[in-house]
Amino acid sequence: MNTTEIALAIEARWVIPVIPQGVVLEHTTVLINDDGSIHAILPIAEARATLKATRVVRLDHHALMPGLINLHTHAAMALMRGMADDLPLMDWLQHHIWPAERAAVTPRFVRDGTLLASAEMLAGGVTCFNDMYFYPDAAAEAVIQAGIRAHLGLVVMDFPSAYATDADDYLLKGLEARDGWRGTSRITSSLAPHAPYTMSDRSFEKVMTYAEQLGLGIHTHLHETRTEIEQSLAQYGIRPIQRMADLGILGPGLVAAHAVHLDEAERTLLKEFGCHIAHCPASNLKLGSGVANVPAMLETGINVGLGTDGAASNNRLDMFAEMRLAALLAKGASEDAAVVPATTALEMATINGARALGLDDKIGSIEPGKLADLVAIDMDHAICNPCFDPVSHLVYVAGREHVTHTWVAGELCYQEGIYAHVEPAELKEITTQWYPKLSPFRA
Ligand SMILES: [Zn+2]
Repeated sequence: MNTTEIALAIEARWVIPVIPQGVVLEHTTVLINDDGSIHAILPIAEARATLKATRVVRLDHHALMPGLINLHTHAAMALMRGMADDLPLMDWLQHHIWPAERAAVTPRFVRDGTLLASAEMLAGGVTCFNDMYFYPDAAAEAVIQAGIRAHLGLVVMDFPSAYATDADDYLLKGLEARDGWRGTSRITSSLAPHAPYTMSDRSFEKVMTYAEQLGLGIHTHLHETRTEIEQSLAQYGIRPIQRMADLGILGPGLVAAHAVHLDEAERTLLKEFGCHIAHCPASNLKLGSGVANVPAMLETGINVGLGTDGAASNNRLDMFAEMRLAALLAKGASEDAAVVPATTALEMATINGARALGLDDKIGSIEPGKLADLVAIDMDHAICNPCFDPVSHLVYVAGREHVTHTWVAGELCYQEGIYAHVEPAELKEITTQWYPKLSPFRA
């Protein structure tokens, strides 16, 4: 074996690879190639005896797991965190968020907000996020700077914004933006028709045509609130999911954010078409949208990942919080403590997200050949001891404050308060600058 190609060896007290399912490896080394891919996973003693790495990171009391995948967010909205709270979705959108977006959203806003969000996510163990927002080219700038991985949705809607005038214009601008980051290994993209209530049938058909031609997935909001379903019944005579089925939108490339209100036939439909759901428990609770029936989705065999939604409706981009909440809500709502065990919650936040993005051959688990998107969590805290099962602690006890290291493709992008490519002073400057511009839209 060529010993010079091992760039990095991470020796950890526990390695939770996620695949194979339910496995916890003790005193294990993850060896990483120069190109950021995982070379091998070996017991520490064996790795030391057989392979020499350029760099060794010793994590004597840490758990090492795959980077968390935030399956639904609007990263730039980090600048609107706490601007308008305690309002139902439509009031919140129509009277605060949309007016603020019309007035304040520029490429600079998106770049700044996405940098703020990327820094927050890296520090919280998130290595990849599935985004949907205006000016994706500006979001890409921030993603490239921070070093995080992103699946950038090219937003489409019928309503004009500072960014685009109509569905054709959104599509044109999105596809141009995508040309700009082609060849950037950490950015992939999808088409992101905003929601059934902001898209005409004709616009959905255009999105579908491009999706098929370019082989892109689709990221949309679907069945988030009862109001959305009632409006669809009034306007089209059918529920949004049936409308999506009729338009040919349902398929294995679809990531449906929320899906709070589904009946059994709709779950079966989503399963049959191989659609994915981005479950966003905190956002659904905060906007009073309801509680998604995750146990029934999983029982039906739908792939369910986890998302934070934007920081304006959460207000944290904290995937540890989402994992815990997803597990607890499912148990409480179904009156069954056995549903969504810790292992499942962790899979939802990692490999299920990767599957939804069509990136499960590259990320979502710690396996040879996959990219080294990894997170270390320090378990040497009184609250994490004794540790009978590190997966249980990761979901029910530990928080993002226990994250010590975040690697993306083998690159250490965050370590104990320090970012590789982002200065805390820059983040402070961003928030100071934007605060007065957004203040007029506060609730
Ligand atoms: Zn959303």
